[in-house]
Amino acid sequence: MNDILKLTITELIEKLKTREVRSVDVTKAALERIKERNDSINAYITICEEEALKQAAISDQKLDDGEAGLLEGVPLGIKDLFCTKGIKTTAASKMLAEFIPPYESTVTQKLLDQGAIFLGKLNMDQYAMGGSGETSFFGNTVNPIKQEENLTAGGSSSGSAAALADFQCFGATVSDTGGSVRQPASFTNTVGFRPTYGRCSRFGMVSFASSLDQAGFMARSVEDTALMFQVASGYDEKDSTSADVAVEDYTSTLNDMNVKGLKIGLPKEYFIDGVDPKVKAIINAKVEEFKAAGAQIIDISLPHTKYAVPTYYIVAPAEAAANLSRYDGMRYGVRVEGENLDDTYAKSRSAGFGWEVKRRVMVGNYVLSSGYYDAYYTKAQKVRNLISQDFHNAFESVDVIFAPTTPELPFALGGKIDDPIAMYLCDIFTVSSALAGIPCISVPSGHTAEGYPVGLQILGKAFDDAKVLQAAKIAQDMNK
Ligand code: GLN
Repeated sequence: MNDILKLTITELIEKLKTREVRSVDVTKAALERIKERNDSINAYITICEEEALKQAAISDQKLDDGEAGLLEGVPLGIKDLFCTKGIKTTAASKMLAEFIPPYESTVTQKLLDQGAIFLGKLNMDQYAMGGSGETSFFGNTVNPIKQEENLTAGGSSSGSAAALADFQCFGATVSDTGGSVRQPASFTNTVGFRPTYGRCSRFGMVSFASSLDQAGFMARSVEDTALMFQVASGYDEKDSTSADVAVEDYTSTLNDMNVKGLKIGLPKEYFIDGVDPKVKAIINAKVEEFKAAGAQIIDISLPHTKYAVPTYYIVAPAEAAANLSRYDGMRYGVRVEGENLDDTYAKSRSAGFGWEVKRRVMVGNYVLSSGYYDAYYTKAQKVRNLISQDFHNAFESVDVIFAPTTPELPFALGGKIDDPIAMYLCDIFTVSSALAGIPCISVPSGHTAEGYPVGLQILGKAFDDAKVLQAAKIAQDMNK
């Protein structure tokens, strides 16, 4: 492998600026790496060779002309649920296997505007529903860390995480509905950031659960994550849920946090018996390091945490059922002709959706049905408020909250796929913050003696994105 692929985005940008390396060469090296590895890792659904090389040549020219954007010439991967104009966008489903969007998502457009190169579209759980990458219509992604063990790279951003850990891209745009950025980051020793809900536009992202979906960013360093985030965030009139709040400078303020006196909350509900002791040990060691550096560690409680998984698995499927009703075989997506209109709907949906998507659509329609709406959906919304309130209360006395990203180490492909409850329970530490819409990040924090990576999760108040990134930067620097 060409060593250049191991650089972080920030390092690469320096070398591109001085013209020590050229974007075309870096892009070629990345494409070669992808082609060499895709049969075994399966991180990419679509490889955009021609477009990427064309973009890279333009970037090199811009660099020569002194017109470089903030990400000029940097090759990224795009999770396959961001609509990319003229490039297949499948959401890893059979339903959209041939879908070519006529428009570009806002997040990817902002990255393109700053000169980013798109290497291809990354594998994921179908419609982002899953936590292991195994619901993809395009096959499983293999975790490149300990490849021989055939472990999951997490999900739903399985391909993004694997591509980064395997040096098949320098950064990736991802999405997080209930943990899809953070858990794969933890499983692959990468950084995964979920910004405050509404901080980035959802326009052009294939919808899963609209009140939870948020664009996120994954990279091999906190600096890189902050840079992509800065470029891609901001209000967008095309998304009425995007926040009309000024974008801060997340990159130049990255070192501004003083760890002395930093108040870190440790929620007792996140350090329970079910957490793998090896995960707990690594997180505790990190907390000790912060303490030694002068941070104040405060025990807190988020008492409604135990209701988060059931609440999420009512709210998310309910919204998914509504969102996915648009796939009726009429305008786009798979169409199977039936005997009449209803039959065409049923046949098209049956053929286009995978089993996990069908399960969620059925659960969603059930909890929204007239006889059960109040008992499930309305109640879940009330509990969601209580969960948000827990965080609100906690942030009265702490600056940030530390927790494990996931209760367990990367598990084997096939290990949980037949047990949806076991799979859903893995989301226990990531769904509460998604329900509350607050910013959170998973940052590499060490390895077990056997070499499995563990991510520390850092959570902050809504719109405290800068603070979350700053704390993550400190955590990252402690690893050195
Ligand atoms: N694992 C969770 C789910 O299956 C989260 C997915 C996501 O964030 N997109 O719903």
